[in-house]
Amino acid sequence: MKSILFSILFIFGLACYFPNIVAAQSNDSIVVSSASVEEPTTDGMISIQGDSVTVWYLPDANVRRLEARLRERDVPMNQEYRMLLSNRSLSMEDRLKVRIEIILLRVEAILGMDPKELHVKVRIFKNRKDMNDAYAWMFNEQANFKSFYIHYFKSVYTNEQDFLDSVMAHELGHAVIDHYFSVPPPSRMAELMATYVDAHLEED
Ligand SMILES: [Zn+2]
Repeated sequence: MKSILFSILFIFGLACYFPNIVAAQSNDSIVVSSASVEEPTTDGMISIQGDSVTVWYLPDANVRRLEARLRERDVPMNQEYRMLLSNRSLSMEDRLKVRIEIILLRVEAILGMDPKELHVKVRIFKNRKDMNDAYAWMFNEQANFKSFYIHYFKSVYTNEQDFLDSVMAHELGHAVIDHYFSVPPPSRMAELMATYVDAHLEED
């Protein structure tokens, strides 16, 4: 834990000294400043609910492909999840949900943060355009994200085109960080921590 904190502080320090070297991507953790912002409807979408995540996807989504995209990297998991995944009768939909839960647990372990009552919604749009159109609908502003997180709705917004374990780890990093601190850390700091999570996904 100490070494993780040290690494984060080191990266942060580096970023302060050399802002052009460690260029945090444009901030994808969206702060809602008006109570009038509404989430787009999930009508017509399919949901799978777990204890810590609910996944929403379109009826024509290739769930098998989505699930495969979450195991590009070798994310460590506990024995319980290993057993669960070895069960051949576990549906592809449940596998998709379980893979996200495994990444979430790993993200919490990397950050050393175990927020209470964490439940994250993951919304999978068809493509990047549809997802950014949803952003524009909410905020009256164009954007070009690969994915983003809105803590106000406790929702990760992602899409079938950009769906990937690395991206999921980064966004779940934002979710864990924002759940953990009662006062959210500065956005640049949160961005570095979320990036740190992605970089350390495999190591145990
Ligand atoms: Zn981010």
